[in-house]
Amino acid sequence: MARIAYVNGRYVPHREAAVHVEDRGYQFADGVYEVIAVRAGRFVDAGPHLDRLDRSLGELRIAPPMERTALHHVLNEVRRRNRIENGIVYLQATRGVARRDHPFPAEADTALVVTGSRKPPPNPGILETGVDAVSVPDNRWKRCDIKSVSLLPNILAKQTAREAGAYEAVFVDEQGFVTEGSSTNVWIVTSGGELLTRELDHGILAGVTRGTVVKLAESLGLSFAERRFTIEEARRAREAFVTSATSYVTPVVRIDESTIGNGKPGSTAHALFEVYARYMERGDAAA
Ligand code: PMP
Repeated sequence: MARIAYVNGRYVPHREAAVHVEDRGYQFADGVYEVIAVRAGRFVDAGPHLDRLDRSLGELRIAPPMERTALHHVLNEVRRRNRIENGIVYLQATRGVARRDHPFPAEADTALVVTGSRKPPPNPGILETGVDAVSVPDNRWKRCDIKSVSLLPNILAKQTAREAGAYEAVFVDEQGFVTEGSSTNVWIVTSGGELLTRELDHGILAGVTRGTVVKLAESLGLSFAERRFTIEEARRAREAFVTSATSYVTPVVRIDESTIGNGKPGSTAHALFEVYARYMERGDAAA
């Protein structure tokens, strides 16, 4: 079956989907994006993803590409036309096409691209093995709360992880505090048994999965706080895991040379993996 993409008002075969050479996303990374998981044919947390999109666009003063109901319709059409039961829908909005010049163009229409791809749902096998992570200095700009397509430091960090045989790279700020993963939010269970994830500020993306897992952790009655922690605390932690729309809840069993806990995913990661997998299955088509 041919994949279909949405590009500026048209549904086109994926292999023909293209943007103009002077799209400001291509030339300046002047745009934002969202990745929304699809589980059992329904979007997971579509509403919070579209809220965050509005916020990112607002912070960059890019006009919304269309009304939310129309946008939700496009997302669902891409999902439907690609027959995605489990997978993701990717949305990118840029400041549009204009002659290359740094200031905002006087006239340009926000460009919108939506693609979809299939992907397996959470695999409980990850609870047997977990994944490894490496730490890297956080050398990004100071507005990581905006979900910009400008991902070069994240890409370099992820490549460092891959070359070290690890799944994720964990960014560490100049004070030694963990900010987030290259494409995930980071959580630990301290040696004292407290579940922690960094508080929201301009240093990290407000992960939609993070937000949902916060609520799920509270509903499980876990001892939880939104507080920053150092990479040393993470290395000594009882458990660690990362969350995102595509990584779900993924236990981390090694950071650099340090084994986390006993080297196996712990009970908190187990519990949150399962409760999040069930949450995804229940779905949330609201936007
Ligand atoms: N931080 C960064 C830097 C990311 O790229 C992502 C994934 N887009 C996340 C956190 C997790 O966000 P979400 O749970 O909304 O996928």
